[in-house]
Amino acid sequence: MKRAPKSKRGYVIAIDGPAGVGKSTIGTLVAKELGYRFINTGEMYRALTWKALEDGVDTRDGGALTRLAERLSWDFKANEDGVIIRTVIDGRPVTTQIREERVGMNSSLVAGVPGVRRKLRSLQRKLGQQGSIVMEGRDITTVVFPDADFKVYLDASIEERARRRTKQLRAGGKKADLGKIRESIIQRDMQDLQRRINPLRQAEDAVVIDSTRLTMLDVAGRILGLIRERERADK
Ligand code: C5P
Repeated sequence: MKRAPKSKRGYVIAIDGPAGVGKSTIGTLVAKELGYRFINTGEMYRALTWKALEDGVDTRDGGALTRLAERLSWDFKANEDGVIIRTVIDGRPVTTQIREERVGMNSSLVAGVPGVRRKLRSLQRKLGQQGSIVMEGRDITTVVFPDADFKVYLDASIEERARRRTKQLRAGGKKADLGKIRESIIQRDMQDLQRRINPLRQAEDAVVIDSTRLTMLDVAGRILGLIRERERADK
């Protein structure tokens, strides 16, 4: 029997890790270098949370949240350089609004609703179908793309993650209190690690990188090195 030609599509690169570890910065660097698209799936959970808060939907009502997720029209649009894919709901880009602290805190509750996860997972799988994508989140290596071509689990100490987030907010002209940010990271870690459905965990076959003492460029370089090795082996 004739064998099917080897697929020419680019890889699916899945990255998971806790809040504030640099998944987006690193994922974007990797995608740019490879000419891939990049998507931060946390934005989808945040977008739904923002919409629920706007519409007065109770974020503890799983049924109402599931119906909202099903009812919304979801679009994904690339930014000017064609790399970063942004979430658009009901025709509205929500990039700025979803960064509010109240959205971040409520989003890990919304992310615990099975119907919400089912809907967003199906959108995420569609986005990854064609390959040539870097996707980051909490369950991308374990649930969304358990067969991803390349899996990375990023980690860093809580102190370092809090320090980075504070610096990032201050650089954007916002007030930021290191102690408060540290507390909110601890709380979000707890919610993400302890939820019953699709909690954050390391996939057995993921490459684990602790970035506490590394720059984002170092980490991206390390990941790219491993991908290039794989490309050579796959040729
Ligand atoms: O990545 P970010 O912190 O913006 O994600 C917001 C929230 O969305 C997280 O706290 C997490 O609970 C949830 N999330 C998730 N699964 C993903 C991505 C994000 O549960 N794949």
